[in-house]
Amino acid sequence: MRRLFFIIAGLGVLLASPSPAFAKVNVFACSPEWAALSEEIGGDLVEVKSATNARQDVHHIRAKPSLLAAMRKADLVFCTGASLEIGWLPILIKKSGGPNVQPETIGWLMASDYVQKLEVMSNVDRSMGHIHPEGNPHIHLDPHNIATVADVLAERLMLLDEANAATYQQNLKSFQDRWAGLIAQWEADAASLKGRKIVVYHNAWAYLVEWLGLEVTATLEPKPGIPPTASHLETVLKQVQGKDVQAILVSPYEDEDAAEWLSDKSNIPVVHMPFTVGGNDKAGSLSALFDETLRLLKQGS
Ligand SMILES: [Zn+2]
Repeated sequence: MRRLFFIIAGLGVLLASPSPAFAKVNVFACSPEWAALSEEIGGDLVEVKSATNARQDVHHIRAKPSLLAAMRKADLVFCTGASLEIGWLPILIKKSGGPNVQPETIGWLMASDYVQKLEVMSNVDRSMGHIHPEGNPHIHLDPHNIATVADVLAERLMLLDEANAATYQQNLKSFQDRWAGLIAQWEADAASLKGRKIVVYHNAWAYLVEWLGLEVTATLEPKPGIPPTASHLETVLKQVQGKDVQAILVSPYEDEDAAEWLSDKSNIPVVHMPFTVGGNDKAGSLSALFDETLRLLKQGS
């Protein structure tokens, strides 16, 4: 009997602490695009929590207790960086105290550190609004950036979970093969969009604009992070008149009143873009996000 007790107790210990080969890597992603990429590269080997959904503005969320709990068990924090999450991520990191996910550890991956950033500024002061001095952080709408970040992510997962390195390598290869084909298709498909003029709410489209050769005629925010004002909108209306602007792009989390006002006065259609994975019911994956983005941009043609 005594012996049986020890066997059962021993089993209990085994069950309570699964061997590392069976433990999933917990990824704390700040936004849906990084959560989706983690699932592409990590497959069944990762457990992914996205801190935000597509209807939330990743610049501004509350560091709520459920996020703190997710952060405490994270093996990898996978975010954009370049100050995008500066209003809440440092608080979570500090409070969670998790030694594995502090800056400069292998559990810390800021996607924007690995891509060429646009709009890097040398002289920044508060009068310029809520700007990101390290450059524009909204890197995910250029699929070449996604490919670059996928490589870094796979490397990181291989370090964190060496036992499964071959699987991550394989997942990366099949992702990159498929992605390269998709990029070629998207670029061929979007050739007609070159030079197309758009109005945006926030300067979150810079990488898409650069990738496709679009032109931003005006921004509804007078300064980054500052909501549209009546006088600024009057200026925007003058800027767009006679310019053949095709669309006013709005993300799911942005207030559409200003866009609607401008649309009424100018007859330029408001186009509701998904912006990230899950931003509309068709944009359910990274590739679908780009399919949808292109489809919606071309709709006006
Ligand atoms: Zn921003």
